[in-house]
Amino acid sequence: MAIKIIQDECIGCSACVAACPFGAITMQDDAKAFITEACTVCGACVETCPVSTIVREEEEKTVAMDKAEYKGVWVFIEQVDGHIRGVSHELLGEGRKLADAMGQELAGVLIGNHVEDVSKDLFASGADKVYLVEGAEYSHYNTDGFTVTLTDLIKTYKPNVILIGATNDGRDLGPRVACRIGTGLTADCTNLDIDAETGLVAWTRPAFGGNIMATILCPEHRPQMGTVRPKVFKRPVPDFTRTGEIVRVASKVKPEDIRTKFIELLQVCITSCNLEEAEIIVSGGRGMCKPENFKLIEDLAEVLGGTVGASRAAVDAGWKPALHQVGQTGKTVGPKIYIACGISGAIQHLAGMSSSDSVIAINKDADAPIFKVADYGIVGDVMEVLPIMIEEFKKLRQ
Ligand code: FAD
Repeated sequence: MAIKIIQDECIGCSACVAACPFGAITMQDDAKAFITEACTVCGACVETCPVSTIVREEEEKTVAMDKAEYKGVWVFIEQVDGHIRGVSHELLGEGRKLADAMGQELAGVLIGNHVEDVSKDLFASGADKVYLVEGAEYSHYNTDGFTVTLTDLIKTYKPNVILIGATNDGRDLGPRVACRIGTGLTADCTNLDIDAETGLVAWTRPAFGGNIMATILCPEHRPQMGTVRPKVFKRPVPDFTRTGEIVRVASKVKPEDIRTKFIELLQVCITSCNLEEAEIIVSGGRGMCKPENFKLIEDLAEVLGGTVGASRAAVDAGWKPALHQVGQTGKTVGPKIYIACGISGAIQHLAGMSSSDSVIAINKDADAPIFKVADYGIVGDVMEVLPIMIEEFKKLRQ
């Protein structure tokens, strides 16, 4: 698809230049608008042109696809040493709802080394079937091996929908596979639904820097693919009475398919920044006033066995790296306890933490919006409150 300006009809009003969110339209010497390579085909200019001289050119569809052949909802199961990541369970729970609404089956795709045992957990979370591919080449996630295998499974079994966690590995794998299959992928979704009119999956994600929520359909190609942020859906309550079918698939990955060599796993940042899996998060905002004061956030997190989060203001100030950011353009978290320290509670921050089970807010402004979502509020100075909390929790731990 491309956007084209019919040059002969352009009146040179430059309305499209102002409308383009990407600065991808310039005016030429002959006072005609010109679209540069920065164009993302968003179509904002098409709507704006007062003489309808900007058009969207649809590419001819070369591949006639029999969409009816594609059935079932798949969840790519992420695991490390046989430990399934929480997001895979969350997606099985949500995938179950989609599969039921479409009258199709739900399958987990489990690729790893000696991982068959965890299939029972996948059935307990809602899967009807598990596609199992095992081999030493899958002991650790590697881009090439997993891409070849998932692509091959899709070509063989033709699923209708594939859900992948928007984790580092999922964000690496999903787009590559989608590109090889020749389908679309909606990245970083925060909601899933079924579009009432078309019966397609409606993938919702923040767009234009988080200023709008876009809902995207994939009408022409299959499978419909998307990556979904961890913690936007609740993990389903496991039902260990459920059973299912295991479909063993032989690995077709050849050594030459894998261009990287695994040398060593360096386990850094396991508890300190694994926000998506954390049960307790202590987050600091601009109210911490300076980077050194984040030591109090770290100390409280440590004594509680929790993880450190930050508002975007704290990240933008350089007090914490971006991987600690909670919110619409950061991580979506869902801990049992979220302690917000010196955070005002802007809507973009709440978007990332409002599904926390219990929120405790410390802020010196009694009218701060964070108190509207807090289960417990402490009106006070973080520099006074946090040392007391740390001391008291230390005593409790002894
Ligand atoms: P502030 O809003 O400045 O609040 C600081 C708070 O600290 C105040 O309430 C103040 O009363 C309190 N305070 C000050 N001193 C003390 C003290 N000594 N003791 C106790 N309390 C004190 N923000 C995010 O966090 N995450 C995102 O992902 C995110 N994405 C965004 C995306 C977009 C498109 C946009 C436009 C914005 C986004 N933001 C995001 C920014 C967001 O709008 C807010 O600017 C940001 O969350 C504010 O951070 P803050 O609460 O730390 O700072």
